[in-house]
Amino acid sequence: MKAVHVAEQGSPAQAMRLTVQPVPQVTPGHVRLKVEAAGINFADVLAVSGEYLTRTKYPYTPGMEFAGVIEELGQGVQGFQVGQRVACLAGTGGLAQYAVVPAQTLVPVPQSFSAAQAASFPVSYLTAYHGLKTLGQGKGGEWVLVQAAAGALGTASIQMAKAMGMKVIAMASTEEKLSIARDLGADVTLLQDDEERVQKVRDAAGGKGVPLILEVVGGKRFQESLDMAANRGRVIVIGNASREQANLRPVELMKRNITVTGLWLTSLLGDAEANAQAMREVPPLLASGQVVPQVGPTYALADSAQAFQDIMDRKTTGKVIIEP
Ligand code: NDP
Repeated sequence: MKAVHVAEQGSPAQAMRLTVQPVPQVTPGHVRLKVEAAGINFADVLAVSGEYLTRTKYPYTPGMEFAGVIEELGQGVQGFQVGQRVACLAGTGGLAQYAVVPAQTLVPVPQSFSAAQAASFPVSYLTAYHGLKTLGQGKGGEWVLVQAAAGALGTASIQMAKAMGMKVIAMASTEEKLSIARDLGADVTLLQDDEERVQKVRDAAGGKGVPLILEVVGGKRFQESLDMAANRGRVIVIGNASREQANLRPVELMKRNITVTGLWLTSLLGDAEANAQAMREVPPLLASGQVVPQVGPTYALADSAQAFQDIMDRKTTGKVIIEP
């Protein structure tokens, strides 16, 4: 089978190679998937260059999130059937034609979903849910600020927030990206380099600042998020796309009773209560069509390095898909 191989850290062009490898054999507690589509996250891009939150173990095949059809069930696997299309959060291995994954990493998907939609949903929509609700405690009628609003997480966050009855201020780097945010229901849109952005965001939220902010850019933008937050505002730190250091002065949080909370989906997937609640509430929104996974550009497996580079260069919107 064809699979992308990363021997050591580097830029996508240096590090990612298309190789031919044996088809993996199924083992107890695992299933073999015929991979149909891999959804690429910013985290996949950071992992190749060794900049992710956890240390990347080389060599490996990237692809933390993917969808495919179950080909074979290993001993002891229950609740899934051969021929069923599922999504999978295995952490690695999606950029290949076949993958053997632990059954507990499988995520059921509505059978109406295309493979690309199935591969677009778990990371972005579960992260959006936990940011808005589990940790953000967002309420209907409340304003939320969504950064990088046309990206995979951004588009998911806008849709999830609207489905929860919230009002959305969306920020992104280009007018084209803002128009995507508006099409998804964002109430107010603003270029992220607008010179008066802090005041404009505070004004949009009734002049008092924003009660809930999903912070994904980091660096100097983190300080701006604090400036945009309302008294008793909640800033949920989900990403650091700028890869710049941010400074946090705790005294500043005291002055306006601001809460800063970190969010890492991997940890929340291991939190039985939070995970069970997300799996109760998110799939019905998808099945009813209230939220629709935003499939972005699609690349062939041989063009994986280009896909990764395009995400880094901020050229993509929605979830980037790689088809084996
Ligand atoms: P996206 O599809 O949103 O792509 C990243 C976007 O980040 C870009 O399109 C760009 O949007 C924005 N960005 C801002 N500054 C930079 C920069 N200096 N370089 C590159 N991009 C920049 O990716 P994802 O949806 O996968 O992830 C979005 C963010 O959320 C990332 O920071 C990611 O790490 C984080 N994340 C965290 C999770 C967690 O569990 N904590 C789970 C999922 C995502 P624009 O051009 O509009 O600024």
